[in-house]
Amino acid sequence: MDTVHYHEARKFEILKKPIPEIKDDEVLVHVRFCGICGSDEHIHSGELFADIFPLTPGHEISGEISKVGSAVTELAVGDKCVVSPIITCGNCFFCRRGNEVMCIKMVGYGVTRDGGLSEYVVVNEKNVHKFKNISFQDACLIEPTSCAVFGADRLQLPVGSSVLVLGAGPSGLILSQLLKVNGASTVVLAANKGVKTALAQEIGAADVYVELDRADPEAQWAKLKVDYPYGFDAVVEATGSEAIVNRSIDYVRRGGSLLLYGVYGPKAQVHWPPSKIFLDQITILSSFAQRYTFPRAVEYIESGKINVKGMVTDVFELKDYQAALDKVSSRDALKVVVKTSA
Ligand SMILES: [Zn+2]
Ligand SMILES: [Zn+2]
Repeated sequence: MDTVHYHEARKFEILKKPIPEIKDDEVLVHVRFCGICGSDEHIHSGELFADIFPLTPGHEISGEISKVGSAVTELAVGDKCVVSPIITCGNCFFCRRGNEVMCIKMVGYGVTRDGGLSEYVVVNEKNVHKFKNISFQDACLIEPTSCAVFGADRLQLPVGSSVLVLGAGPSGLILSQLLKVNGASTVVLAANKGVKTALAQEIGAADVYVELDRADPEAQWAKLKVDYPYGFDAVVEATGSEAIVNRSIDYVRRGGSLLLYGVYGPKAQVHWPPSKIFLDQITILSSFAQRYTFPRAVEYIESGKINVKGMVTDVFELKDYQAALDKVSSRDALKVVVKTSA
């Protein structure tokens, strides 16, 4: 089978490997598509985790089951499936307190062990979730959706809240839709003008759209202040941009919440006056991963309540993985996926 094989950071080749063997509690997934996201860029440059190479990356996996181990009970050959990439130890300080997303020994398919940029991947049965009525391509959006569901759980939005979502990447579009059906009376989506904000409007991701001018967005930021003088009950920062996260706090209503949901560079800094957070009683939250939210993510996408049609903007062959990575870092793609099998 063909795989993307990293020898070390920035050094990969497309390697032919034998199809791996499975253990009793594992399944062999014939991967159809694998989504690429910002963390794959960090894996490429070696700045996300230490000592992960050699590695086959890819954690937004969709495919079908081609073999099941003898102890597998919930899955069968031919099932269409996605993979929850996170594996927690169940035994560390945090796992023992039921806070598995904070597991200090967390590992993951496509992050610290071989993932889906390959024709086949071996996965523990517990990490595999079935789906039925969506395409393999769209199913690559289930993993980001499950992270968004986890983030929405953390936010605990009261009914009738006003929400500002900053950023119209896949996460921004999914969170907008999720909050729209879970407590928000109004969702305002603000993002740079371009292909992403155009799609946001096409699928009706929010109620109000603010298109920021890339070169000089000051007029739009000022208008947002005029239109919403009391700010928003919740602001979701989903750009990962240092400039925007710094600004985001200015749009949180007194008593409101700010959810940090971008992948921020290790050197990015925020400069917020603690007196504002203190006097305005602002709650600052973050969410970066998920546990136990895959089943809900599958249902949201299958029901269409979260519409992912059109979010996959670019499809690459496995052999063109470098081009896929380049596209992710460009500004004109939404979800980039790699077609791993014919
Ligand atoms: Zn991802
Ligand atoms: Zn643990």
